[in-house]
Amino acid sequence: MVKRAAMLSVSLFFSSSSSHLLFLSKTLTKRTCFSSLATMSINLNAHAFAGNPIRSKTLKAHDPLSPSSAFQSLKTHLLQNPETTSLPPPPKSPLFKVLPFRKGRPLASSSITGNNDDDVPSWHLGWISLPDCKYFLGKCGMDLTEDSLVYLGSKIEDDVVYWAVDVSGESRLVPELGSKQFCFVELRTLMVATDWSDSIAMGELAIAGHARALLEWHNLSRFCGHCGEKTIPKEAGRRKQCSNESCKKRIYPRVDPVVIMLVIDRENDRALLGRQSRFVPRMWSCLAGFIEPGESLEEAVRRETYEEAGIEVGEVVYHSSQPWPVGPSSIPCQLMVGFFAFAKSLEINVDKEELEDAQWHSREDVRKALAVAEYKKAQKTTAAKVDQMCKGVEKGQSLSADFNVESGELAPMFFPGPFAIAHHLISTWANQDVPTDGVKAGSKQPSSSILNL
Ligand SMILES: [Zn+2]
Repeated sequence: MVKRAAMLSVSLFFSSSSSHLLFLSKTLTKRTCFSSLATMSINLNAHAFAGNPIRSKTLKAHDPLSPSSAFQSLKTHLLQNPETTSLPPPPKSPLFKVLPFRKGRPLASSSITGNNDDDVPSWHLGWISLPDCKYFLGKCGMDLTEDSLVYLGSKIEDDVVYWAVDVSGESRLVPELGSKQFCFVELRTLMVATDWSDSIAMGELAIAGHARALLEWHNLSRFCGHCGEKTIPKEAGRRKQCSNESCKKRIYPRVDPVVIMLVIDRENDRALLGRQSRFVPRMWSCLAGFIEPGESLEEAVRRETYEEAGIEVGEVVYHSSQPWPVGPSSIPCQLMVGFFAFAKSLEINVDKEELEDAQWHSREDVRKALAVAEYKKAQKTTAAKVDQMCKGVEKGQSLSADFNVESGELAPMFFPGPFAIAHHLISTWANQDVPTDGVKAGSKQPSSSILNL
């Protein structure tokens, strides 16, 4: 199977100690051949949920694929009734594709290319045409209105505009779409099932993540926080506005920044990893926490580390960031901002309300854990489950228990998979690619940090 090679670009290192930004163009060497699990390379052109291929640049309002033009065209399409001949036919261009969501789960399908027994199925987003969407909803007695559709983006080369619609209120759609081998699947399950070496699959995951974040935000912002009146979608669902004429407050999609940090003990060559009580057994990860109002990113890293583990942090170095639309549904728009944080004190004092445990782990132990983890196996197993669900073999909606699979039976501990920024912070450090000084880091080209499992 040919893998699409890609690169992880980490472009910015932030040195808090020197209060200036260092741009570090770090391009990781491509490796295209996966000879075995033991030498598997994890190559990403962006973190999971980043690199959305349909939301490139903002189009001018007069462009037919722009949100405002597409919305006008959408209204014409929806007004069109096959039995009414008085209206002119809607324009044939651009094409509209709609992605239905039910309770935060995108519609998906699954297919296997090839005829070998060991061919792994791959999932796809369940795009349906606008007429089909209208037809399916109409069969369930639900009207599709322009305000229920949210603009996701476009592909100029294909002349297509993409929309999302929340159909949570219509349970009769499930068997209707199921008969077409479509299934609403948890985004987390799709995340684990995604082949991270396949840039097209990663692009589909990013689209689904963006759509989920937007739709969940629409659900959470139905009323004006200022006067309590209903809000109405504007700009093809890209923002909202209070319907109260004397208020008219503009409301924009929210982003909730979270700092996530690998705390490093330079002297003893160890990293601090924590366990939350909700983690599956033996899983350890980086510390993380929400940024508070009036706080800088570095201050949040230091505060959270001290609060959760009692460790004082000095230097803070930026690594990369990742949109995270698979958190709790009340916080659908998290942005994980990843850092290396260098410890000034070493004695751990765990806040049991926040963490179950936190411990220093040697680089050797972390490397061992990475070496025996079976992320690829977990991906393949989950992809097979999604395939079964879409074919109606398995009715289960949540496969969260399968996250255990990624641990591998031999691993005394394991870390989140390559779909999570935590994995890349941990593996980058384990592979000795961490700048030990923010200023010096900018003056040298770091070696490749591709993870060899
Ligand atoms: Zn208002």
